[in-house]
Amino acid sequence: MATLFLSSYTASFAQQIKIVDKPIVFDSTRVRLSLEYLKNRHDIVKSTPTIEPKIIVLHWTAAKTFSSTFNAFNTAKLPDGDRKDIATVSSLNTSSQFLIDRDGTIYRLMPENYFARHVIGLNYCAIGVENVGSRDFPLTPEQLAANEALVRYLTAKYPIEYLIGHYEYTRFKNTPLWKETNPNYQTGKDDPGKDFMEKVREDLKDLNLKGAPQQKNN
Ligand SMILES: [Zn+2]
Repeated sequence: MATLFLSSYTASFAQQIKIVDKPIVFDSTRVRLSLEYLKNRHDIVKSTPTIEPKIIVLHWTAAKTFSSTFNAFNTAKLPDGDRKDIATVSSLNTSSQFLIDRDGTIYRLMPENYFARHVIGLNYCAIGVENVGSRDFPLTPEQLAANEALVRYLTAKYPIEYLIGHYEYTRFKNTPLWKETNPNYQTGKDDPGKDFMEKVREDLKDLNLKGAPQQKNN
């Protein structure tokens, strides 16, 4: 009985969430660069740019509008001279599977299990959820509710084990999940803020998702 209740609850929940499809360019160049990224950075050889999702990574965009982020993601290659800190290892543009606007509207930018460049070391198994906002432009209550609904939807659909904020990603270093061929390649992150992650985790604790591993001393 318990199982039956759970599965019917999950099914009805999956129907309730509203997701707006607004695809970014995923052309042959993006496919090629994604496969190169998988091979050169993650040491994974594949013929299709897909992922097996285990981790959800929440982000903020550090941009003030939906359209500025959508337009930034909407080319296969990083614009020339842009993002020099990450352009040296791959010319694949950054992106994420989802982008949530200030009013809580959830946009799906590509198929959920396609490869997106949003978190060093973990892209091959991570679904990225970007939120329009920044430290000075804090995420809204509508975005909080939308992130929680989206995490519930994704956790019901995929074998998700971890929910992390982008600022926590380096804690996967020295674990089997971390796959990045250059041990010195990393960037500093503070998104989407500790307060936001605390609220999300409190409201989703019934899902029993793991956070980032604790850092060992040394
Ligand atoms: Zn981020």
